[in-house]
Amino acid sequence: MLAVMSRLRGIAVSSGRATAPLVHIVESIDPPPLRPLGISPDDACATIRTAAAAVKAELQELAAEATGQAQEILSMTALMAADPALLGGAETFVREQKLTPELAVWQSADDQSATLRAMGGMMAERAADVIDVRNRIVAHLTGVPLPGLPELTEPCILAARDLSPADTANLDPMIVRGIVTLEGGPTSHTAILARDLGIPAIVAIDAAIVEIPEGTHVAIDGTAGYLHTANFDPADFDHVPCVPLSFDGEGRLADGTRIELMANISEPAGALQAVASGAEGVGLLRTEFLFNDAIREPSVERQVAEYGKVFAEFPGRTVIVRTLDIGEDTPFLAPVGVPNPALALRGFRAAFQHRSVIENQLQAIAQAAAQHTADVWVVAPMISTPSETDEFMHLARAAGLRTAGVLIEVPAAALNAGPILARADFATLGTNDLIQYTFAADREIAHLAELATPWDRSILTLIQLTCQAAAQQDRPVVLPGEMAGIPELAVVAVGLGVTALSMSARRLGVVARVLESVTLAECRELAGLALGCESGERARELVRGRLPILEELGR
Ligand code: PEP
Ligand code: MG
Repeated sequence: MLAVMSRLRGIAVSSGRATAPLVHIVESIDPPPLRPLGISPDDACATIRTAAAAVKAELQELAAEATGQAQEILSMTALMAADPALLGGAETFVREQKLTPELAVWQSADDQSATLRAMGGMMAERAADVIDVRNRIVAHLTGVPLPGLPELTEPCILAARDLSPADTANLDPMIVRGIVTLEGGPTSHTAILARDLGIPAIVAIDAAIVEIPEGTHVAIDGTAGYLHTANFDPADFDHVPCVPLSFDGEGRLADGTRIELMANISEPAGALQAVASGAEGVGLLRTEFLFNDAIREPSVERQVAEYGKVFAEFPGRTVIVRTLDIGEDTPFLAPVGVPNPALALRGFRAAFQHRSVIENQLQAIAQAAAQHTADVWVVAPMISTPSETDEFMHLARAAGLRTAGVLIEVPAAALNAGPILARADFATLGTNDLIQYTFAADREIAHLAELATPWDRSILTLIQLTCQAAAQQDRPVVLPGEMAGIPELAVVAVGLGVTALSMSARRLGVVARVLESVTLAECRELAGLALGCESGERARELVRGRLPILEELGR
């Protein structure tokens, strides 16, 4: 075993400190080794049937506790555990090839999932469920822990290769006191959700994390990016989530210029925290939560109800709803089997193949909007051309939605912002994606985070081009990318012409406080300084040096 350091380094993505025992998330189950059967084939087949029945019962129990789509999915998966093709195939492997029960189940499930994948469409999507059932049966047969999130009842710090956004969204911050992952980046959806939940998190953690035994008391510093595995004083880490500064609900600069400060929301429950934090509206309502677990499209009625929950919290205020951003995080309609999913048929592009899904969603948004007084705007992700803009505007108007805009998150759109904004009512700047596409650096790959920085003049120039085009046509520009929640970058963005900022509710106070300390002329001067730097690091240093308030606030 390697000697493990008492402090492991990573990239800090969600502030706060905590100490708790470490829990490793098992990523996958290894294929069982080939070994002699050792028992009679009849006994081996009986063992398989017993394990499969136990898994079926376990899944039925989970289904009974779940609701909606999750219940449906778990019930169907439970039936798979008793599938005659899966179990019959395994028994044949036992009888004909004398494989052990676990290897026989493994091989049979592999055959089943390959057949499903070859069928394509909805059937191909079931292949992952067969693998889930396989893992559960093999775990029963061999006594190894199941992969995925275990049921967590005691405070802990989670260590994983990566967590899915769906898993992260369901974490309870009182139980999960910290997250460390080997993969992921500062703008990965998992990092965004951790910040939303106020759970300290570190990505790109030193690979030695795998050497730290489960149950070890560790301490996470999500502000500095360290996980202490020994020699720390627990009193220093006594569950200190980074306490957000308060916000009085009206963003402005020192000279009185109004800059609306809004919240990003990834699920309806986030609306309550946003309101409590003083958000002036919602600058980005991500709607993937409705499509995360879905094997099929959520009904219009369900969508109306979910959007309505958010609109109800913001009477008279602007709520910008993003239509489904089909991509890697949305199993529903996600591109499969393509070499570069982030560059595939995703975002609004997918509407060309699945037009009715977007039409239904826009209908649902319009219906929900009609039931509330919130000023509902809609925005389409990943728009790249003026003609895509025309298409979206047409769909939005057809649904009866008055205000429709585009997310500028592809460099082509920023470079062509003039004609795009001549068609759209407003722009929002998706800088998380804009950065990844400008640098050709996957936002999920931690080690590229230093390269792909919002401080680089390439990014600042694309923001400036978008804002100039918007100003010429009198269109607002909202910035909901993660950089909006970093006060020194918020100042630069305002200097470049952004008219409203939207961020995790917890960041509103600190951003408001720093904006209050500068005039518009100063923001423009700092933006100019940053644009003049050849390196992002230098730009950050220069701008921070001109904002003494950051030190006063301990940021
Ligand atoms: C972005 O890309 O900046 C954005 C706001 O959207 P998301 O992070 O959901 O891709
Ligand atoms: Mg995006």
